[in-house]
Amino acid sequence: MPEGDTLFRTAAVLDEVLAGRQVTAARGRAGGVALGRVVGSRVERVASVGKHLLITFSDGLALHTHLRMHGSWHRYRTGEPWRRSPRRAVAVIEVPRAVAVCFDAPTVELLDARAVEVHPALAALGPDLSGADPDLDEAMRRIRDPSRRGLTVGEALLDQRSQAGLGNVYRSEVCFIERVDPFAPVVAFDDATLRRLLATGARLLAANRHGHGRTTTSEPGIGRLYVYGRSGRPCRRCGTPIRSRVTGQLPRRTYRCPTCQPDAAGTAVPRPASAGVAR
Ligand SMILES: [Zn+2]
Repeated sequence: MPEGDTLFRTAAVLDEVLAGRQVTAARGRAGGVALGRVVGSRVERVASVGKHLLITFSDGLALHTHLRMHGSWHRYRTGEPWRRSPRRAVAVIEVPRAVAVCFDAPTVELLDARAVEVHPALAALGPDLSGADPDLDEAMRRIRDPSRRGLTVGEALLDQRSQAGLGNVYRSEVCFIERVDPFAPVVAFDDATLRRLLATGARLLAANRHGHGRTTTSEPGIGRLYVYGRSGRPCRRCGTPIRSRVTGQLPRRTYRCPTCQPDAAGTAVPRPASAGVAR
């Protein structure tokens, strides 16, 4: 699943291919984004913001995509066969000698500069943990906001309005590394612990930016991930079977070692119905 590290890398690759080049052809899916408007302009830059990707054009427009679970960006040389069906392409941008194709992304929109500034998802994003030198003070302030009191740690780590970039894999891994129960309420933890979770998240995102398979473990030879996707298998630290549970409006599975990550609060706080989580 694409998380902040994947998007950072995607943006870097697309920037190399597209930036400074003139768009010779561009199209969205039938009935989708009117990407033909950018033909003739130059690509200024490609950048990730958390799990969002923005391609900015010299005519002031920007293409915003969010890949969610199944979307991806590919780059090809002109004429090279695509690895997915053209029917799944939701955005195609051609420049001399190269073409960038976005497949299956549910969010694809062309925005002007003002719309980017006031975009409900983009403007609300917390500090980007996958960027250089993320603002952890601001992320802490957001996590401690009264509107988030009802969230569990796992929900708070996924809430892109607190801090952008972490996704479902990292939230399980970060909580394991810091020995925190992801199902415990945020309010059960002191600032030092929450800050450590954020710092570990930022460290993992940075370590995986350049992509040779996402790895969160630091000991060689024990596998790439500690708990994610390992339900029922022995904890890499203590041997206890890893447990998992599905939670959230968009059901996501969260993994935990019951021994290494004991139930910190003893009880779960009731969640207010309005405690939605932006992803
Ligand atoms: Zn364990």
